[in-house]
Amino acid sequence: MSDCIFCKIIKGEIPCDKVYEDDKMIAIKDVAPVAPVHVLLIPKKHVPNILATEADLRLHLSSKMKELVKKLGVEEKGFRLVINTGVDGGQTVEHLHIHLIGGKILGWPPC
Ligand code: AMP
Repeated sequence: MSDCIFCKIIKGEIPCDKVYEDDKMIAIKDVAPVAPVHVLLIPKKHVPNILATEADLRLHLSSKMKELVKKLGVEEKGFRLVINTGVDGGQTVEHLHIHLIGGKILGWPPC
């Protein structure tokens, strides 16, 4: 989508701090991190949210998430995955992304 900020990042029109890329997805550091580790896993295909995904994409994101957890050094102490979805879910960018957050003890509940 032409006005989607993550599509622009994927096309190289907006700079990002990329930690991983393949033919289906990128992983970038969040521009406003809430923890020492805050990476966004973003499919290259513009899908608005998790409900709009095919099973193979969900499997790919999940598989690469496991690799990134190790690469980012949060495997041992733990981390949190967040998929904000829709207005009540607090989604601000309508292009599916998974927050991978860690590097400190995270509070709960989130609100
Ligand atoms: P959400 O509220 O779940 O839709 O999360 C959107 C996330 O995208 C927020 O954590 C933003 O800080 C992040 N974000 C927005 N623009 C950029 C950007 N240009 N580069 C990296 N992260 C971004």
